[in-house]
Amino acid sequence: MTLAIGVDVGGTKVAAGVVDEDGQIIAKLKRSTPAASPPRTEQAIADAVTELLTRHQVAAIGLGAAGFVDCDRARLLFAPNLAWRDEPLKQRVEERLGREVVVENDANASAWAEARFGAARGYRDVILVALGTGIGAAILIDGQLYRGRWGMAGEPGHVRVVPDGRLCGCGNRGCWEQYCSGNALVAEAREFARRTPEGAIRLLQLGGGVPEGISGPVITQAASEGDPAALRCFQTVGGWLGQGLADLAAVLDPACFVIGGGVSEAGDLLLGPARAAFERALAGRGYRPLAEIKVAELGEDAGIVGAADLARQASQATARPAPPDLRQAAARPAPPDLRQAAARPAPPDLRQAAAP
Ligand SMILES: [Zn+2]
Repeated sequence: MTLAIGVDVGGTKVAAGVVDEDGQIIAKLKRSTPAASPPRTEQAIADAVTELLTRHQVAAIGLGAAGFVDCDRARLLFAPNLAWRDEPLKQRVEERLGREVVVENDANASAWAEARFGAARGYRDVILVALGTGIGAAILIDGQLYRGRWGMAGEPGHVRVVPDGRLCGCGNRGCWEQYCSGNALVAEAREFARRTPEGAIRLLQLGGGVPEGISGPVITQAASEGDPAALRCFQTVGGWLGQGLADLAAVLDPACFVIGGGVSEAGDLLLGPARAAFERALAGRGYRPLAEIKVAELGEDAGIVGAADLARQASQATARPAPPDLRQAAARPAPPDLRQAAARPAPPDLRQAAAP
C-alpha cells in the first residue's frame, strides 16, 4: 500500500494527513497558520510534514493551498486570506523538506478527492462549489481537473449576477459569492433580525440575543426546527445557488455538482431550494437530463485526501510510462450518468428535430 501525505493550507490552519490508496486518512495533525508571514507559514507546513515523516514512509507529498496556483503548479500568485503574493511555494517548501512536493489549489484538491472517493465517485464531469467565506470551486472535465491556461479557471464566485450589486472583495460589484456563500447566509439572517426582531425570535435566542451572535450553525439549527425566518434565509441563498448552477450547466453541462463548505452541512435545507431553482432556471429544462446536485461527503478532510492522491498520481506518472488517468479510465466501468443517458430513449421532440 503506497502512502502519501496531503496538506491543506488554509487561512487559519495547516492540516496534514497520511493517506492510503483508498483515500483513508491513517494519521492527521493540525497547526495554526501564521497567515501574515509566508516564511512562517511555509515552516509550519514543513514542520507538520516532518512530524508525519518520522512515523510514516510515504511516496509523495501534496499541498492544497487556498489561493491562485499558477499553471506550472509551483507558485501561489495570490491568496485572498494569506499573505502570499507571487510566492514560489513549491520551491520554498521543497528547500525546507529536501523532497519534492506537488502544489494544487485547495478547491481542486477537494474536487479530486470527491470524484475519486466521495460524492462524485463514478462521474467524470463534475463541478465542485464550496460555500464558505466566499465560493471555492473546481471543474473536472472527462475525469481531469480543468485549470485553464494560467491556472485561474474555476472561480465562478466572481461571475457578476447582479449589475451594480453588493461590493465584493475582488473589487467588482454583484459577484455570485456576495449572494451565495456562508457569509451571505449569515448576513441575510442578521439583516432580517435587525429589521424584524419579532420575526426572528428563535434566531436571536440561539444567537445570544443579538443579531451579531447569529452564525451559520445557529441558522441551520433554527431551520431544522422549522423556524420560518431561518428557512427563508436558506430559500434565498439556495435560490441563488440553484440559479448559479444552472448558469454553470449552460457553459459546462456537468453530470454532477458537489456542494461543499460549512453551509452544505445543512443538507436538504439548502439543496432543496437549490434544486428547485436549478430546475426553474435551466436552459432547455424538461428536455435534458438533470445534473445531480449532491452534498460533499469528505468534509474538511477533502483537501488533505485530494492533495495526497494528486501527489501520488504525479509520482507514479514520472515513475511509469502509462499515464495514470488513462489506466484508470480503462479499468473503471462507465459512469452511472452516461449509462442512464444511454438507457433513456431520446425525447420525442429531439427525434423530430433530427428528422429531415
Ligand atoms: Zn468578486
